[in-house]
Amino acid sequence: MSKSKDKRIKKLGKKRIWLSVMGLVFILFLFFCAIMTVLATSTIDVIQRKLTYSRKQSEKIAQMCAEYEEASFGDIRGTLLTYVDLMPEIEAVSIMGAEGEQKWSSNGSYPDMNRAAELDFLTDMLQLPTRVIIEEDYSRMFEIEDGTIFFSNDILNKIDYQQLMDTENYFTTEESAPVIYFKVWFVMPAKSGNVMVLNQISLYASDLFMMLVSLAVCALLLCVFTLYYMISFISILVNMHRTSRIIYTDLVTGGDNWLHFVKKGTSLLKHNRSNRHRYAMIHLKMRKYRSFCTCFGVREGEELIEKFYRALKKQMRHREIIAHHENAEFGLLLAYTSKEQLVARIEELENILDGVLPSMKLYFGVGVYQIEPGERDVEQLYNNALIACDMLGEEAENKIAFFDVEMNKQKLWERRVEDDMDRALANKEFKVYLQPKISTSEEKLAGAEALVRWIHPTEGFIPPNKFIPIFEQNGFILKLDDYMLEEIAAQQARWIAQGRKIVPISVNVSRAHFTREDLAEHIAAIVDKYNVPHDVIELELTESAFFDDKKVLLSTVKKLHEAGFIVSMDDFGAGYSSLNSLKELHIDVLKIDGDFFRGADVEERGMLIVAEVIDLAKKLNMKIVAEGIENREQVDFLAAQECDLIQGYFFAKPMPIDEFVEKYKEQ
Ligand code: C2E
Ligand code: CA
Ligand code: CA
Repeated sequence: MSKSKDKRIKKLGKKRIWLSVMGLVFILFLFFCAIMTVLATSTIDVIQRKLTYSRKQSEKIAQMCAEYEEASFGDIRGTLLTYVDLMPEIEAVSIMGAEGEQKWSSNGSYPDMNRAAELDFLTDMLQLPTRVIIEEDYSRMFEIEDGTIFFSNDILNKIDYQQLMDTENYFTTEESAPVIYFKVWFVMPAKSGNVMVLNQISLYASDLFMMLVSLAVCALLLCVFTLYYMISFISILVNMHRTSRIIYTDLVTGGDNWLHFVKKGTSLLKHNRSNRHRYAMIHLKMRKYRSFCTCFGVREGEELIEKFYRALKKQMRHREIIAHHENAEFGLLLAYTSKEQLVARIEELENILDGVLPSMKLYFGVGVYQIEPGERDVEQLYNNALIACDMLGEEAENKIAFFDVEMNKQKLWERRVEDDMDRALANKEFKVYLQPKISTSEEKLAGAEALVRWIHPTEGFIPPNKFIPIFEQNGFILKLDDYMLEEIAAQQARWIAQGRKIVPISVNVSRAHFTREDLAEHIAAIVDKYNVPHDVIELELTESAFFDDKKVLLSTVKKLHEAGFIVSMDDFGAGYSSLNSLKELHIDVLKIDGDFFRGADVEERGMLIVAEVIDLAKKLNMKIVAEGIENREQVDFLAAQECDLIQGYFFAKPMPIDEFVEKYKEQ
């Protein structure tokens, strides 16, 4: 898997959770700030209002006190009492001497100056040249400096409200309503300097209540938002889990998928420290799965795959994994101790799989790659196992192939060829070589076969067996054959134009062409571009094409024949020959495969068969070409059998066109 793909998939699995976390933290912070602001502003506001109010009163009283002599306190007493009565905010007013001695109080109570603590308020905000005293004996709460009041957090934190409430003196509960209030003395130095006016005011519960309500609202909102974020946070986690399940689930088996296999496999290989166990990457595939689906249906096929998966999964041991790859293929990462043990294990797995469908004998192909310590690119390792399995072919058999380096080389070569082929065709890197066909009677040039060679810019000369099989698999052979045919038609046209005597030249028509029904028309169209008579072009069809689409082959041969082309059957006798093909196809030339003439033991029997084939072909009115003829004895034997033409190294190897012209210009 490419790195970018890997990244994209990982991204899918991961929601951006940090955004939610940051959101949550931000909201919490906002609420903290909001609460602090509400608390601070409402508290300060209430106190400031009270203080401003009482300061004004106190200032008046202090002014009055200053205006009267000490002796005439009595005269202002009435005024002070009226004040207290009229001002609901004011509890009591006391007058004290400069030394703190109590002189008079409207309700008879005085702050105990020895026990009283001065409260520090936020002076900047309050900006009151007032002294506030709360009676208590354990801590100072306010401090006045230059007529400004300071507030000490430290001290406010230390207030034991419970104790305050318990102590009647400082906290009073009125019966009419659950009203709690602080009684606070405000000290106002009178202008005369030797008198202090003490204002006692209360902070009522209604004010506290407002604070509490705003606090509660804030807390509630905070809870709602926190809850909201918690829920979204949890749902993100749940979604993440679900997404990762989807990403790692195989749609056919419902089990772990390939992505999971790669991820888990990489981690298993990374952490394998065992000296005893090594890992093997296995590619296991059911053979003829497509045929199975054609017979029983795709759904049944998929059900079978699911059953295979479950059966295999059960067999996995600790730290072993399996996943469905594609079609009927599975990847397995198995731990093993020896090659023998591994083979036995795989055979056992094959038996188990075969047992999944008792009514049918199933066959499996297995490719194995024995992983070296340090190797952990799961996709690459699996690819090696796959390459090994590819080498097994498609037969219905249980077979196990172990990967070796040669296999890899072959695969690399295939990839190289596929990468280069289009460019090669465009750049005319494919060259036509001609191999002469010599008449047995006169030993003169009677024809030639066009054979392709690849002159690669970096690899140099490449023989056809190195690329033709690859082209046959990937379909590029269709383009190459057309190219060869066109080159030959053009060449023949040039020779005709030059007034040379020409011989028929054969081109190979790969079996891959026999899927198109208009093949004959297609061939004729190419040749007709050059206005060449059809009988100077011979088409070599391989006998094996007879086993593909017989209908297309028969009709194509018939049409080619009618169009005047020479049609030959190549490689007769190689592989599974069928005399039937001779009966049904109207072939002009039979090319006897070179294999008949090779190998010492089979020589005699081979020759016997060759003689019979020649005889048979003669009776069927066919010309005979013997291929792969390398020595004089073979030539003499073929001449005795009245074989028409000989193609082989004995006379000449395939050669470039110039060389061919040079060699046979006399003939
Ligand atoms: P083929 O069509 O059977 O071609 C004959 C092969 O036998 C040629 O191999 C030729 O060089 C070789 N040969 C000829 N005389 C002798 C001999 O005396 N001894 C031995 N040992 N070999 C001899 P080449 O050129 O390597 O081609 C191999 C195969 O590649 C061809 O077998 C053909 O199947 C395929 N091929 C070559 N060119 C083309 C093409 O243009 N199109 C297609 N479809 N196939 C081609
Ligand atoms: Ca041939
Ligand atoms: Ca041949």
